[in-house]
Amino acid sequence: MKNQFESNVLYHDAISQLEDAASTMKLDPNILDRLRTPKRAIMVSVPIRLDDGTVKTFMGYRVQHNMTIGPGKGGIRFHPSVDMAETAALAMLMTFKCALVGLPLGGAKGGIAVDPTSLSRQELQALTRRYATEINMVVGPTIDIPAPDIGTDGQTMAWFLDTYSQLKGYTVPGVVTGKPISVGGSLGRAESTGKGVAFCVSFAADYLKYKINESTKVAVHGFGKVGIPAAQDLAAQGAKVVAISDVSGGIFDPNGIDVNAAAEWTRSGQLLKDFEPNKTITNEALLELDVDILVPAAIDGVITKDNARKVKAKIIAEGANGPLTTEAVDICTANGSFIIPDILCNAGGVIVSYFEWVQGLQNFFWDLDQINSKLYSILKNAFDEVIDCHEKYKVDMKRAAFIAALKRLATAMRMRGLFPA
Ligand code: GLU
Repeated sequence: MKNQFESNVLYHDAISQLEDAASTMKLDPNILDRLRTPKRAIMVSVPIRLDDGTVKTFMGYRVQHNMTIGPGKGGIRFHPSVDMAETAALAMLMTFKCALVGLPLGGAKGGIAVDPTSLSRQELQALTRRYATEINMVVGPTIDIPAPDIGTDGQTMAWFLDTYSQLKGYTVPGVVTGKPISVGGSLGRAESTGKGVAFCVSFAADYLKYKINESTKVAVHGFGKVGIPAAQDLAAQGAKVVAISDVSGGIFDPNGIDVNAAAEWTRSGQLLKDFEPNKTITNEALLELDVDILVPAAIDGVITKDNARKVKAKIIAEGANGPLTTEAVDICTANGSFIIPDILCNAGGVIVSYFEWVQGLQNFFWDLDQINSKLYSILKNAFDEVIDCHEKYKVDMKRAAFIAALKRLATAMRMRGLFPA
């Protein structure tokens, strides 16, 4: 049965991947039916006083898709496109992401429909604090644990933590992850999503018997929180990063870009089009470059049926959530690209979020080597599970990842049963 969210492309695509995987693995239809809709969704008004004295009201959301394996987990997005359907789709992807990599967590997502770049720091703080207050009854370390996503960062999480803790009367470090280190964040969390992308690319290269070296050309679409560490780690693996982009467009240099210098430029708040003005390239052209590895790490829906035929990369590493539509996945797969699916490829973030949550609950902190080696082994095991499904069911990696996730989730759902019985 169709539901109100399915007109959203991301939701529709998540459902079609779910249905495909379910039919391939012969999933119990009762479980499929349950997974089509979120467990719980809340919509809140978030009024704030702007710097000019006027009051503006934004719409906020938090969706908990499934909590069978543990508390909800997933980011908070500040972006103009945020609505209930998009948030529900992203929450569903979190369910499968956490299940795939074996975390004791369910799937959730939240957000506010806002362009955060249009607000001052004070306005953003007010927005975050009021949103945290409005959803405080449905989040918490044992209920649902937010984290950063597009348009939010460690500062946002610190304000969220502080607001929630003010309401409780004591500090609750486990209520959010992706916090700054000074307020209980984990070493390695900031780079973890990009690091995971680079790990997955190396696993894929090994699987394909492809050697990454100085002739390996990499393009990174979305040189930001995920794209920067991914580019840095791929360069450290010996690859040549030839193109990077941000909202302003990108730069392309066939001889390779100094990734660390570009990262410093971006982190200082400057736009990439001004980094090397004689080497600019559009975001659209970057996706179609003749490269070996393409990392779409910005936002969903950038590769569609309209441009998928022009994508030439051997390996496409989905750093963002849903950068390829289902149609694009099929076209790129038919063209011979090997796609590392988002729920595997960008899971490094939520894996280290899980480490942060555990450290916060125990008040005992780990060193960076421990974190990175645990991250590596969790991702490697998940990658191998997806490969097993890819080979056993003869489906592409996107569908294989859904099958691997569904196996773990369905077992838990069956074991817990339905209430009331
Ligand atoms: N927003 C990130 C994601 O989409 C991280 C979620 C988390 O750490 O909870 O995976």
